[in-house]
Formats: sequence, C-alpha cells, structure tokens
Amino acid sequence: MQNIENTLLRIREITGDVVSTGLSEDNISKYLTEKVHYSHVNQEEVSCPICHEDYKNGDKIGRMVKCGHEYHVDCIKRWLLIKKLCPICRTECSN
Ligand SMILES: [Zn+2]
Ligand SMILES: [Zn+2]
Repeated sequence: MQNIENTLLRIREITGDVVSTGLSEDNISKYLTEKVHYSHVNQEEVSCPICHEDYKNGDKIGRMVKCGHEYHVDCIKRWLLIKKLCPICRTECSN
C-alpha cells in the first residue's frame, strides 16, 4: 500500500499550485490501460515514478495510452484528476 500523503505531496511538488485542469473520473479510463503487475526472477525492480514505491506482485498498474509510461493505477488516477498530463514526459491527455 503506497503512502497517500507522499503521493499528494509529490503531485504538488511537480505541478505547483493545484488548479483544476484535470480529467473527470469517467474520462481517465480513456487515457489509461490497466494491468496487474507480476515480477519475474532476474527482472529489475521497477518503482512508481509518483510515489517511488516498488511495484509488487498484484499491484494494479496503469499505463498511459499515449506515451506508454506506467504508474500505480491509484497514483496516476489521483494525478490525472488534478493534471491531465503525464508526470514524466508531460504528454497531454487530449483528443
Ligand atoms: Zn505509486
Ligand atoms: Zn509519458
């Protein structure tokens, strides 16, 4: 379970003042594909760029449809409600 306080802090760190330019709950699923994380032996540990926690078996991962960057589903959803762009490459979620 990732630390929600840290996640929100990080969102503020990157986006600055939180203005409501995010997506609605309904729209988020259009820009995100969800999968469940399973790590393999010999696979490098990968962590979520938002909360910096390593992905664990069974964690839900959300992949940005446009740029392919991956985050915890919970982290990226929370992010996209505030800002509709990818936290790493800043690709905007729009049509
Ligand atoms: Zn995360
Ligand atoms: Zn990206």
